[in-house]
Amino acid sequence: MRLRNIPGAREEIAASPYVVHDEESMKGKWHEFFENDNPIHIEIGMGKGTFIIECAKRNPDINFIGIEKYSSVLLRALEKREEESELSNIVFIRMDAEYIENVFAPDEVDNIYLNFSDPWPKDRNAKRRLTSDRFLKRYTNIMKKDAVVTFKTDNNDLFDYSIESVNENDWEIIVMTRDLHNSEYNEENIMTEYEKKFSGLGHKINMMQIRQKQY
Ligand code: SAM
Repeated sequence: MRLRNIPGAREEIAASPYVVHDEESMKGKWHEFFENDNPIHIEIGMGKGTFIIECAKRNPDINFIGIEKYSSVLLRALEKREEESELSNIVFIRMDAEYIENVFAPDEVDNIYLNFSDPWPKDRNAKRRLTSDRFLKRYTNIMKKDAVVTFKTDNNDLFDYSIESVNENDWEIIVMTRDLHNSEYNEENIMTEYEKKFSGLGHKINMMQIRQKQY
């Protein structure tokens, strides 16, 4: 999702109290930042933020951090965040998740959500996919050993690629469905913006939950 360049987006983000700007200095200090020991859940590529803001509303005892690469998109999430100003358990970072190990210390993250991640269909861009071996290694370096990554997409090729990537690395699938909305897992499901759009077009939604192999 890349919206057209919005004049003033960067300035507005720079002035927002809901965005952490010195994210690398927070590494290992996120519990201090939130002033509690509650678990930390992150969404990578949160887009306009509908999903993670709803997660924060439903789960006041979890801290949520939404990561988004583009200012123009983050600005939309900020508009929604401002309407929920009573929430104290959610902040945003504008960054490319490639550098996520600079922002979180080992064992600091309890859960990661990847929702409708960019598919990067060309082979030469496979390393950019958020379920590639490079990203799984990055997650290993910041997550607790038994922490879970939840991944949803309507893109069957990306989902098939992700199954292979999990199996080829030191990870395992603990939950999987190729039709989330007609599965037992739908009851707890929070729809993302892309999920609403693509399920509205009749696409089935794939979902997997994975974790590092437990030895
Ligand atoms: N998760 C949202 C949803 O389901 O409605 C948005 C999905 S959209 C297809 C993917 C989003 O991920 C875009 O906003 C894009 O800018 C962001 N994104 C892609 N790669 C990223 C990366 N490496 N780091 C941070 N954000 C990224």
